Amino acid sequence: MFEKVALIGIGLIGSSIAIRARKENLVGTIAVQSRRAETVKKAEELGLGDSYTTDPAEAVKGADLVVLCIPVGAVGAVTEAIAPHLAEGAIVTDVGSVKNAVVTEMAPLLPAHVHFVPGHPIAGTEHSGPEAGFAELFDGRWCILTPPAGTDPAAVEKLAAFWTKLGSSVETMDPRHHDMVLAITSHVPHLIAYNIVGTAAELEEVTESEVMKFAAGGFRDFTRIAASDPTMWRDVFLNNREAVLEMLGRFNEDLTALQRAIRWGDGDALFDLFTRTRAIRRGIIEAGQETADPDFGRHKKS
Ligand code: NAP
Repeated sequence: MFEKVALIGIGLIGSSIAIRARKENLVGTIAVQSRRAETVKKAEELGLGDSYTTDPAEAVKGADLVVLCIPVGAVGAVTEAIAPHLAEGAIVTDVGSVKNAVVTEMAPLLPAHVHFVPGHPIAGTEHSGPEAGFAELFDGRWCILTPPAGTDPAAVEKLAAFWTKLGSSVETMDPRHHDMVLAITSHVPHLIAYNIVGTAAELEEVTESEVMKFAAGGFRDFTRIAASDPTMWRDVFLNNREAVLEMLGRFNEDLTALQRAIRWGDGDALFDLFTRTRAIRRGIIEAGQETADPDFGRHKKS
């Protein structure tokens, strides 16, 4: 599908793209770039590409597909560095978990002769780095594209076809709408997990060893999410402030209602909510985004 793909950043997402694109024979050559020499070396040891460099400008030369697989907070500086070296007609995309801030930052820096099609694969794990990637990461998951108005539809279609071959289903969306949807489905859940794990770690009347020992009561499922990459998630919250604060406002109101129900012994209110939430999980399983296996089906892998 592409002669040369440049992967700018080779962590979990970049390496998963590399492995699957190679497996499906979607690209002629893969240029791998990473900021630190040690990451580049690791990627080379893993055989993720055909050329390796720490210089993003060198990686993008002659590439007809450029994928930024770096933290959202880094896209501005990197786009500035690559912009003068982008090939005529290249598709430039990213995989960042926030879209409006990325579009606002990248779009003005890119030359008119490239096609800018921002993207976000809704697939991930709590692991980072080039060793974390695997071919099946995108299987059965969604990838959201947020092309700015006026983007060449052929470029959008070509990138959508690429993601389909990587295993994803593709949907296009307005970047602000994407940020609102992801605030409630991903960003606020991560914040809740970070918060509850932080709270437990600071409790004095329950010792840390007790928290570890009795974690199977529910706590450990939060710790998986709260183990996610600190840089990535710092950048998500700094760059999706509005939508996250809006959703947190709603969350706080609902939490207050739950607090009240517990205080006043309103068992019906609690039972009603827990019944509705159970149905939501069933819906997610039916949508193929989770398995019904006990322990979230994760015990075999982890
Ligand atoms: P990762 O495994 O931590 O890899 C990050 C890559 O970005 C590495 O190559 C790293 O280079 C590079 N990098 C870090 N800081 C940089 C900076 N300031 N300037 C330039 N390069 C920098 O990350 P990931 O999980 O693949 O995530 C990459 C992107 O995908 C993020 O934007 C994230 O929002 C998005 N995303 C992540 C997930 C997920 O679950 N992880 C899911 C969907 C989308 P060095 O190692 O050489 O420093």
